Amino acid sequence: MSFMMKHFKNGNTGLVAICDVCHEEVTAQDANILWDPPKTDTPNQLFMPIITCKDQCTRKIDLVRGQHQYSQELEVAILCLADNTNSDMKRARRTLKLMNGIIP
Ligand SMILES: [Zn+2]
Repeated sequence: MSFMMKHFKNGNTGLVAICDVCHEEVTAQDANILWDPPKTDTPNQLFMPIITCKDQCTRKIDLVRGQHQYSQELEVAILCLADNTNSDMKRARRTLKLMNGIIP
């Protein structure tokens, strides 16, 4: 999965998502994460997901891999990541605003 650090015009650096097919930066609303379907019912299996633009790049991956991949909208996946890492989103948002100089 492609998350990259980006240096923005305002001098800040932050994490952005990149499509693994076309290598363009994507928004959470316009991207999916895809992963191979589990081959067994064994719990705690890990899968390496990839990020794709919705529609065109997602279809390309299905064609290349020859099967429909499991998928989730990127914005939903980000919330799952926050939940699965016990993130305190209110505290994180406050810290981000401080880092970006929004709060004096
Ligand atoms: Zn793409």
